[in-house]
Amino acid sequence: MEHPENDAQYTGLNVNSGVAQPPSVNPYLQRRPRRKPLPTASELVEGILKGDVTMLSRAVTLVESLAPEHYNISQEVIEKCLPHSGKSHRIGITGVPGAGKSTSIDVFGLHVLKQGGKLAVLAIDPSSERTKGSILGDKTRMEKLSTHPDAFIRPSPSAGSLGGVARKTRETIVLCEAAGFNNIFVETVGVGQSETAVHSMVDFFLLIQIAGAGDELQGIKRGIMEMADGIVINKADGENINAAQLAQAQFRSALHLFPPTESGWKPEVLTYSGYYELGIPEVWDMIDRYFDFVTKNGYFDVRRNRQARYWMYETIDEQLRRHFYENPEIKSMLESSEADVLANRRSSFAAATDVLDKYFKK
Ligand code: GDP
Repeated sequence: MEHPENDAQYTGLNVNSGVAQPPSVNPYLQRRPRRKPLPTASELVEGILKGDVTMLSRAVTLVESLAPEHYNISQEVIEKCLPHSGKSHRIGITGVPGAGKSTSIDVFGLHVLKQGGKLAVLAIDPSSERTKGSILGDKTRMEKLSTHPDAFIRPSPSAGSLGGVARKTRETIVLCEAAGFNNIFVETVGVGQSETAVHSMVDFFLLIQIAGAGDELQGIKRGIMEMADGIVINKADGENINAAQLAQAQFRSALHLFPPTESGWKPEVLTYSGYYELGIPEVWDMIDRYFDFVTKNGYFDVRRNRQARYWMYETIDEQLRRHFYENPEIKSMLESSEADVLANRRSSFAAATDVLDKYFKK
């Protein structure tokens, strides 16, 4: 290969010719035996209903899979699990990176499990789409929970649009509930759109904040505070206690500016320390009171019904979009239309109309 660095004129380091690569890293490598055959939908459902975590994990993997052959079987499993789902407390947990989500989920989770039952921790991570790996819901981040026999931790599905990732998490909730998980935590990073997605699948939305970050009230701007059913200020320990209490007062007065919530519940603001495990029962007491409150006044069901309707339309939107963009004719037409638009040969509107007409076979 020609390297410009090896030119006689070039005064920097030369490039060595190196050695030839062997044809394969290990020519003796044996093909691994094929994975176990895919269980059928009924086998999966049977396993899930028995609380078999291996079957649950396999079903979740199918839900998350992008392979078309997995779609039908996963939908069948969800359909059959649906009548056994719904009996849980679904709690969304958000906060900026470093707010202490994983530390807190670890202790909140143990607190919940002390009261009996089982806990699933799921995640929606918008960044995983770009990084192809997810940071949320990672077992290594929740040390105590990850070894607990009654906890199931699943990182964020990593492929697809936020809408697609969120739908998969929602379907995973159904499977977990059918497997007997009566507490579901859905974690997300408080930096973007994903809070709205999480909010649309949980009963209680908990916003974790920290004092002294200088931007305590930034949640107001992004509309996240309006979604919160409870705001908790973490790291209320050591020298940070006063700052945390000050932030608590600020949040309380900021909440007065908001119109009353639809549920009639007044979002509370508490301080706690996830790391030193201070104030945990108080936070959980608030959440229990919320569930009592909305169960009695009927809002619990109103919210769940509305979410079910929302997800129906979300799924329609997503499938329509996918059907459109994955159509091979449309794909190639989009390429040429895009080139036309960029070269000013055609207006954006006219080009879009052409493509849509083709799709709808006008
Ligand atoms: P996440 O990014 O929101 O999941 O945050 P982590 O749980 O990873 O916590 C970020 C950092 O804050 C870690 O270094 C934690 O040890 C620390 N941290 C978490 N909770 C507390 C707390 O209650 N008090 C103090 N002082 N530090 C904490």
